[in-house]
Parts: sequence; structure tokens; C-alpha cells
Amino acid sequence: MPGFEWLGEEEKNAVAEVMERKVLFRYEFANERKGVYTVREFEKAYADFAGCSHALAVTSGTTALKVALASLGIGPGDEVITQGFTFVATWESILDAGATPVFCEIDDTLCLDPEDLEAKITDKTRLIIPVHMMGAAARIKEIMAVADKHGIPVMEDTAQSVGGTLDGKALGTFGRMGTLSFDPVKTLTCGEGGMVITNDEELYVRASEYHDHGHDHRPVGRGNEGRRFYGFNCRMNEMQGAVGLAQLAKLPKMLETQKQTKAALKEALERVPGLTFRHVPDEAGDTATFISWFMPDAEQAKKLAELLAKHGAAPVPWGVNTWHNYAHWEHLHAGSSVIRSGWPFKRPEGDLNYDPAALPRTTALLDRCLSWQIMLGWDEDKLKQMTQAINQSVSEW
Ligand SMILES: *Cc1c(COP(=O)(O)O)cnc(C)c1O
Repeated sequence: MPGFEWLGEEEKNAVAEVMERKVLFRYEFANERKGVYTVREFEKAYADFAGCSHALAVTSGTTALKVALASLGIGPGDEVITQGFTFVATWESILDAGATPVFCEIDDTLCLDPEDLEAKITDKTRLIIPVHMMGAAARIKEIMAVADKHGIPVMEDTAQSVGGTLDGKALGTFGRMGTLSFDPVKTLTCGEGGMVITNDEELYVRASEYHDHGHDHRPVGRGNEGRRFYGFNCRMNEMQGAVGLAQLAKLPKMLETQKQTKAALKEALERVPGLTFRHVPDEAGDTATFISWFMPDAEQAKKLAELLAKHGAAPVPWGVNTWHNYAHWEHLHAGSSVIRSGWPFKRPEGDLNYDPAALPRTTALLDRCLSWQIMLGWDEDKLKQMTQAINQSVSEW
């Protein structure tokens, strides 16, 4: 996952060029910038890479969600379905829009379960947000089929799977919109940053205007008088765009490197009795930022995690994770808000309540699930050490 490992001369020089031009803003300064629009270039390059018509760079993966939700018109009275295994940003942005997050179970892909999705749809459902978790695809075609049957749009949170594909099609381009994150631990990083991608021209223009205080972006770019609606400021700056472009050039090599490491680890892990791998709908499109697997039960997962840790190869135990696991989002369950009125949990039409035990299948799956985040810097020596850790754990089982 970590593009930060490969931050180098290319990024440094790209930022230096921006500083030499002395234009840090993505818009205006037409004379000073000598025709160079770095954020715009990054957007074009990413859209080409992902095979979609439009990309809008923003300040983070979280503001990408905010901008996309606004563009889709989501707000109070609307239910938005997402999954109980994701980063908190996914549902924070739904709450922040005044809409109601509805949580679905995950399946063995560690992503939204299409069957539970069908069960959670109500006459208030206005959007479905599957999250392509930890580098690989959800059952996005099945999810699209359910969504299409009910006429509900899909927006894909692709923050953790930048560069991933399913049957050759970029993740984030199956639904109406996709969102990406370039934060410090994501595959492609510019320190902070995000992107909204879409093939829908009108949604793109709405997103572009909303992320820039609603300023009219038709037809000449920016600076026209007038606004169609109120907006916000989620603009990426030129230094972030420069780093993003340099990182994008490295992305194919990053993915290739991660895939090779993952294949070696997978082979070694196959020796662990009872272990099954996370289902990846299309191995060729896996970004391989993580390798994830299930043990037969929570107890065996705990035992393996302890043994691996003892031998210097500690995995991530998702059962106790507080950032991504629904069962441990204490502030969501308590309805804790910094806002005096208690909004967005306390609402005139009725308060929102989230029971930590509401997603038993997700909880059970995560209790059995372990992962390693695959680092670009893992060389042969490191792989040998990890293979030994696996072998020693098996022999001590
Ligand atoms: C990282 C992440 C985000 C938020 O991205 P930021 O750039 O950190 O704001 C949203 N959704 C998921 C699934 C993420 O992993």
C-alpha cells in the first residue's frame, strides 16, 4: 500500500518546479504559470490511467466522499448503504451530509455482501457505497445488478484500491462515481489528497463547482460570475498535484512489486492447516497491497497471530481493530458528536442508534481474519524471514 516508500528524486524535482514557478494555486495566475496546470495534468493522467472521462482532484479521500455525495444530491431523509468493514471516513461523510448510514454485512471478499444489500434496501435508500477494501475488488458486478434492479445509484469508495481492476475495468468506474485517497498510507500518496472519478459529465461539473465554493465552471473554467448552488473548498494545490503525477508514473511498478511479494507469501501461507484466503474476484486486478486470510475460528486466528508475532511477523488482527471494524466504533454506538445539539445523531425526525452487535457475520469474519500489509521494501531476506516465521509457527502449532 505505501507509495511513501518510493518518494524520491522525481517527487522532489516536481515540487521544486512548482516552487520555481511560484504558483501554488490550481486556478488563475495565467501569466505567472506559463501555461502549466499541474493539478489539471494529474487529473487528466489519472483519468487516462483509469479509463474514465473525468477526474477531479480534491484535498483528501474524505472530501472526495463529501464532494461526491453532494454531487449526487444526498442529504437529510436519505439512507445510504455501506459496509461494516471500512475506514470511518466512509460513514463520517454520510453523517456529515445529514443522511443516514445503513450498514451491511461483508462476505468473504471482505467487502459489501450483495445478498445482505438486497435485505437492507428500503424506500429511502438513495445511494449504495461499496468499499473495495485492502487492495481488491468487492463483488461489484453483483452489487451493480442489485442496485440496478432497484434503480439506486452506486458510488465506489476506492480509497484503498487505487490501481485495482476487475476484468480489466478500473475499480471506481463501475458505479456513477468513484472516490480515491492519496493519504500517507495509501498506494499512491501526495501527503494528503483524493480524487473523484466519473464518466458522467454533469456529475463532474457539479463536483468541480461544489469543491470550489460553487463557482460557475461552465464554460470557461473558473472566474465566471454566478453560482448554481452553494459549495465548499476542497481544492488540491499544485505541490500535491506534482507529487501525485510523479507517484502515478511509479504506480504500475509498485503494483507489480506488490504482486510478486504477495505470490511468495501466499505460497508460504498455504502450509498453515485450516487457512483459507480472502476471496479476490479477479486475481489479475488485485493491487496486492495486503494479503488477507481466514482461520477456521477466532481462537485459531488469535493463536496464529501470537505465534507469528513471536517469530517477528505479526499480522493485523482485524477482530480487535478499532479503525475499520464496526463492532469497535465506540463513538458511532454512543452517538457522540462535538455539536451542541447532538446532530447528526440527534435529529428532529428521530435519533440514530447503532447497536455494536448488529452485524454478527461481519464480526465473526473479522474475528477470524488476519492480514499483512505488503511493503514495497520487502526484499528476499525479509521474505525468507517471514517464510521461516510461518514454518516455525506451523511446527509449534
Ligand atoms: C483512507 C480512506 C478514506 C479517507 O481518505 P483520507 O484521504 O485519509 O481522507 C476513505 N475511505 C477509506 C476506505 C479509506 O481507507
